[in-house]
Amino acid sequence: MTDVRTAPTPLPESLRLDEELTQTLHEEYVHLHRNPELSMQEHRTAEWIEARLDELGIGHERVAGTGVVGVLRHPEGVAGPTVAYRADSDGLPVQEDSGLEYASTARGTLPDGTEVPVMHACGHDTHVAMGLSAARVLARHPEAWGGTVVFVFQPGEETAAGAQAMLDDGLWDRVPRPEAVIGQHVMPAKAGTVHYAPGDAMCLADSFKVTFTGKGAHGSMPERSIDPILLAAHAVTRLQGIVAREVAPADRAVVTVGTFHAGVKENVIPDTAEIALNVRTPTPEVREKVTAAIHRVLAAEALASGAPEPAVERYNSFPRMHNDAELTPAVMASIAATLGEDAVQQMAPLMGSEDVGALADALGVPLVYWFLGGFAGESFADNPANHTPQFAPLMEPTLTAGVHAALAGLLHFVGR
Ligand code: ZN
Ligand code: ZN
Repeated sequence: MTDVRTAPTPLPESLRLDEELTQTLHEEYVHLHRNPELSMQEHRTAEWIEARLDELGIGHERVAGTGVVGVLRHPEGVAGPTVAYRADSDGLPVQEDSGLEYASTARGTLPDGTEVPVMHACGHDTHVAMGLSAARVLARHPEAWGGTVVFVFQPGEETAAGAQAMLDDGLWDRVPRPEAVIGQHVMPAKAGTVHYAPGDAMCLADSFKVTFTGKGAHGSMPERSIDPILLAAHAVTRLQGIVAREVAPADRAVVTVGTFHAGVKENVIPDTAEIALNVRTPTPEVREKVTAAIHRVLAAEALASGAPEPAVERYNSFPRMHNDAELTPAVMASIAATLGEDAVQQMAPLMGSEDVGALADALGVPLVYWFLGGFAGESFADNPANHTPQFAPLMEPTLTAGVHAALAGLLHFVGR
């Protein structure tokens, strides 16, 4: 890759959003907010993004069904690096309760056939709108940059499927190879502020469905059973020993048992019990250690009960999200020079997960991913959390700050 730019470069005045661009940004955001779609079903969203890219004269391709990648080459061929900007596009099965005039009333169908309300409850509508507006500004101001910007509109972030699906569908074989991947995610911090953590900024995540097979019997004859409830109960308890006793406290892992299902009647010992786990780990090494311990505990508890080894199915696996240690502070300095020094703050790593890291790790290039505040309250606790029915960011100053941050981040690479 080219040298890391170290001098902070503020966004030129001429590239800041004017009234007309701000209005377009708001209209596009409201459209997206009203029309959320579930993960890997973003068909209308993808078509709509393609139409916007057509308006901007940006060539694009479909990747992984509902992903769209747009390639903005410098119109006069001014040479420069290639950088990728990623915006995820999926909504969530959440009933919006924001009280907004443009609140979503959309409905969708989950892969299992359940009909559900759909809402952009993680703010991915802001991500798409801000990415498109950044593209619009760069397309209008070729004097400010050189090289190529690849806009990755990624589906299915919420199920950890989208980034990998785009990679599997040859994303990086279809477009110029970027020297870095950047992006941002809206969060419950003060609107217009930017928060970042260099290094492992979020957690890897894995979910596991575990089915214990015992042996059913009449409730009065436990000697004829292998009680899967007793087995599963011991397993749940013993699983908590992994984080407490096997993982270093500084490694901040989490093992949560989120579901426990067994039995239908009090005098019938059931045949099976089912639990589901959600696991967060900060690095691939800790993931491996915790995963191995989970399998060991589950198998050993089954053995202790005289039951067969339980079936363990892993799903929703989020990769690591590692912010480049050198490049991240450098890009943040450019964003701080644009939004103001007070607006950009370093934060502790988050326990949440994201699949954006896969896009950079697949190429072995650095990632710079930051968080954008979108709410009125000063602190996290004052604002609605992502994935809740009230998670509807304030349009301003959130969207304008996000576009300016995106542009400052992109120009950190391609600016001239
Ligand atoms: Zn989310
Ligand atoms: Zn999200």
